[in-house]
Amino acid sequence: MRITLLPGDGIGVEIVAAAVEVMDAVAKKFNLALEYDKQLIGGCAYDATGTPLPEATVTSAKASDAVLLGAVGGPKWDNVEPDKRPEKALLGIRKALGLYCNLRPMKVSKYVAHLSPLKIERAAGADLLIVRELTGGIYFGEHNEAAMVNGVETASDVELYTRPEVERIARKAFEAAKKRKGKVTSVDKANVLGSSRMWRKIVTQMQKEEFSDVELNHFYVDNCAMQLVLNPAQFDVILTNNIFGDILSDEASVIAGSIGLLPSASLGDGTGMYEPIHGSAPDIAGLGIANPLGTILSAAMMFRYSLNNDAAAQAIEDAVDKVMEKGYRTPDLAAEGLQKVSTCEMGHLVAAEILQ
Ligand code: NAD
Repeated sequence: MRITLLPGDGIGVEIVAAAVEVMDAVAKKFNLALEYDKQLIGGCAYDATGTPLPEATVTSAKASDAVLLGAVGGPKWDNVEPDKRPEKALLGIRKALGLYCNLRPMKVSKYVAHLSPLKIERAAGADLLIVRELTGGIYFGEHNEAAMVNGVETASDVELYTRPEVERIARKAFEAAKKRKGKVTSVDKANVLGSSRMWRKIVTQMQKEEFSDVELNHFYVDNCAMQLVLNPAQFDVILTNNIFGDILSDEASVIAGSIGLLPSASLGDGTGMYEPIHGSAPDIAGLGIANPLGTILSAAMMFRYSLNNDAAAQAIEDAVDKVMEKGYRTPDLAAEGLQKVSTCEMGHLVAAEILQ
């Protein structure tokens, strides 16, 4: 199995190194042959080649089974021309790999539940997956910037979806639910929007015809936003469009209590890409104190969704849990009575736990 590694900028380098140690441990335990190809992306790629997304990076990613990304960006590149900014590389690689499906799991670990902004009894037990459509909808529909129309300043953006776009993302959600608790909540605004009514009709039809073993319910997006803070534990898989998913996934992520713990996956029909949800954290880059667990859990998702190895994914997730249970924390989560460890020590601990 070939994996393209894109550490990127800032803490990306440290957290990807820790995740590779963990992947090596899993490879040893399950007797897997992993081959890595490290490439440049973001600001470091711009410095070395004049572009944040070199051709060699795209070629390597396309030829791999999966991509593991750290993060890109930092103040050093704040003033480069807009189309050469490190963040542009993210859109570029998602497009090159045809990644139309974003998976964001959010689990409130009992070890950090006290850090949730929700009351602990509401947050505890939340374990959900947001499946967000990533390449369609209002972000990609026709845009009309503000201009005078009939003497009035007017602007518009079009929310457009086609049946195949809805079908392929809904399929990813139903398939993910089958690997979890078997429930999909489809989120739309069908009381107002025609695109949402089509979305709801297609999802309902697919559940009846192809996924009758998965439970389906529908929420309006405003209700879903409320339910996420009232009772997040009621959800298993949330399926939604690009703009609603953008907003709901950020809302859900803060419930977990720590940005450093959350992984993500972006999938298409070929190579999948895996990355933590946080950025390059320039304020702590190079200090060896970044939390690598979001990246390590992204690697677990890679085994589950791209390398089709649930046992390896579970082994990583269990090892992370064990290390937390034993009281080891990077400084972002440290507290009295707990053992403070560095980024690479956290990598060693998780790897060692896997090989126990
Ligand atoms: P950030 O996520 O990098 O950092 C926000 C805060 O969280 C900082 O205080 C940081 O120290 C902390 N933090 C983040 N990850 C952490 C970790 N693993 N362990 C411990 N603490 C952690 O967001 P930002 O500061 O808004 O952005 C910094 C740079 O990252 C910008 O250039 C931004 O464009 C870029 N960015 C990249 C991505 C990506 O690569 N996918 C995503 C978001 C932001």
